[in-house]
Amino acid sequence: MILKEVLSKSAITKSKLPVADYVANAYIGCPHKCIYCYAEFMRRFTNHYEAWGDFIDIKIFDKIKLPKDIENKSITISSVTDPYNPYEITYKKTQQILEALKNSNCNVGILTKSKNVLRDIPLFKQFKNIEVGVSLNTVDDSFRKRIEPAASTVEGRINVLKTLREHGIKNWLFMSPMFPFLSDYKKIIERTKDFVDYYGFENLNLRAGYKFRVLSMIEQKYNHLYKYYKEIYIKGNTSFWNLLEKEITAYCEDNNIEYRMYFYHEKIKKK
Ligand code: SF4
Repeated sequence: MILKEVLSKSAITKSKLPVADYVANAYIGCPHKCIYCYAEFMRRFTNHYEAWGDFIDIKIFDKIKLPKDIENKSITISSVTDPYNPYEITYKKTQQILEALKNSNCNVGILTKSKNVLRDIPLFKQFKNIEVGVSLNTVDDSFRKRIEPAASTVEGRINVLKTLREHGIKNWLFMSPMFPFLSDYKKIIERTKDFVDYYGFENLNLRAGYKFRVLSMIEQKYNHLYKYYKEIYIKGNTSFWNLLEKEITAYCEDNNIEYRMYFYHEKIKKK
């Protein structure tokens, strides 16, 4: 791992995401090394030539300045790294951002694949509006290892959701990205519905360099599915997603499960 400390002027920046007004990323790079990581584009903007997952820049903030209009705004932590990646244990940069935010009246959304998030439960309890999302797209840990080799295990993440509930912290499970024929939404909901506040669903989008990487993995390890992936990702057939979206919606409605759909998220508009 190539590690650097870099001076950073702004911990919190305006968001281009449709679901948040601001974002905070305490790190550049992410050691979780998910094979489908869209954040890999950050290499271009930060002069990194190493493979994604092989470098991490730790942002050093002199003082964290909050945006003047942060009151009642939403902030996502994080969008292009995992805020609780293993370097957070030593460097506590995400914690530093949260400390700066805790007296402001904003809506904080944490999103992680790491059990390290549990360390900050006492801090979360000091916020008025905070929710913690855990991304999980399978209950099969051998599949998880293939796609998210360094993130927490399936059991580890389920335990995070349970523990957050026990401490009264609002939580949600982000089923993202959903892999066709491999992400079994019913199984995941069955395992977690007793302690999850709501679910979000997002389909797997494949673009740029990681499209080839993911399709090669499917061809080698799940060859019986490769023809379907070609249909979706090479021929551009959207009927699988259209059907799945309807199916998930009906399942959640029938079972009184609170949910948000983020399929084709380019269509989501800022409210
Ligand atoms: S945890 Fe998120 S940012 Fe990190 S590699 Fe995985 S998808 Fe990318």
